[in-house]
Amino acid sequence: MKFNTQLLHGKSIAKNPGREILPPISQVTAFRYESMEELERVFKHKSMGYAYTRIGNPTVSAFEQRVNELEGGVDAVCCSSGMSAIMAALLAVCNNGDEIIAGTGLYGGTIGLFHDLEKLGIHTVFAKELKPEVIQNLINEKTRVIFGELISNPALKVLDVAAVSKTAHEAGIPLFVDSTTATPYVAKPLKLGADVVIHSTSKYINGGGNSIGGIIVDGGSFEWDFDKHKALSEFKKFGKRAFSVRLRTDLWENFGGCMAPMNAFFNYIGLDTLGLRMAKICENADALANALDELEGIEVDYLTLKHHPYHEYVEKELNGKGGGILNFRAGSKEKAFRIINSLKYALIASNIGDIRTLVIHPASTLYVHTSKEEMEAAGVYEDTIRVTVGIEDTEDLIEDFLQAVKGRTER
Ligand SMILES: *Cc1c(COP(=O)(O)O)cnc(C)c1O
Repeated sequence: MKFNTQLLHGKSIAKNPGREILPPISQVTAFRYESMEELERVFKHKSMGYAYTRIGNPTVSAFEQRVNELEGGVDAVCCSSGMSAIMAALLAVCNNGDEIIAGTGLYGGTIGLFHDLEKLGIHTVFAKELKPEVIQNLINEKTRVIFGELISNPALKVLDVAAVSKTAHEAGIPLFVDSTTATPYVAKPLKLGADVVIHSTSKYINGGGNSIGGIIVDGGSFEWDFDKHKALSEFKKFGKRAFSVRLRTDLWENFGGCMAPMNAFFNYIGLDTLGLRMAKICENADALANALDELEGIEVDYLTLKHHPYHEYVEKELNGKGGGILNFRAGSKEKAFRIINSLKYALIASNIGDIRTLVIHPASTLYVHTSKEEMEAAGVYEDTIRVTVGIEDTEDLIEDFLQAVKGRTER
């Protein structure tokens, strides 16, 4: 099966008892049982069943199983947000005193989370380039996980998953990949060698811009060394599944960052059109990047452009696609604001992955609380405009951006 067929007819599409085409929305807090013995079996994990929505819910499971199949994992756990997913995944493998190696140019919220983890005694070492030779020098006896974004938002650096996972595995360390901006349509990190994949489902997976959510997918192939990964030692008997079992039965359940059933339903129906949307989004982004690139005095940053530093990965790792994010520099903050304000279709909004084209000036919003060094490491300057391309008609989109940019130079 190819992507869209698997999406609609894969083995994870549950047969619903009432013959519904979509999973019913189990908008409940708790589930009732006929006898106390039955509920006891559920609590002891002796029989399958739902008890309380923070711990499990059929609508949420239906969505989890679908993403799990698309990514090729052994289990997937939904979270209340992408941030909650990143936090739970990292805390499942890190104790006080442990270290994380992370790339730079990451999503601003993730950088903030790493600062918060410092207060819990978990230190993050940032690698300017998440490359094998750099990582080799940073790995020490405290390193527990390497974390990177497949296509970083908004820096558009691409992680070489095959090479980095090889180096990580040689040192007995797993690679966790935030694949939010790539989506399974553009790349499948587990197949490339990653051990855990994380998505903010709020973005492309939902697609309609209607629900915050996150998901963690466990590849189930990492050989945990329980003397090194002490955070997982109580789960030793689960072997390669120790990570997802700890998440589900311990950490994630106790932190309480579950996804709401209604949001799981919105995500489920959003996922139906992921392939169609991503194909159109990538086509539009490529066309818009090329149109802007021809303009004098405009510096465009998009993966499929031949001059992009990570261009070679488009064929090597990204299924020939460049994703939906492009950045361009307007010359100054004032010019950037003027361009943004004169766009007719692009909405000024702090989000990515919507079907509508969105635009923002990152320096004065997403990075307003970040140091200049961290901001520039993320590829964001005073004059950077970030565009997350939607599914509008290509010609309209290009015409709108060209009129806005040209208006800027004439004034
Ligand atoms: C948005 C985003 C997040 C955070 O997700 P939320 O759902 O907003 O919590 C994490 N990583 C990346 C790459 C993102 O774009």
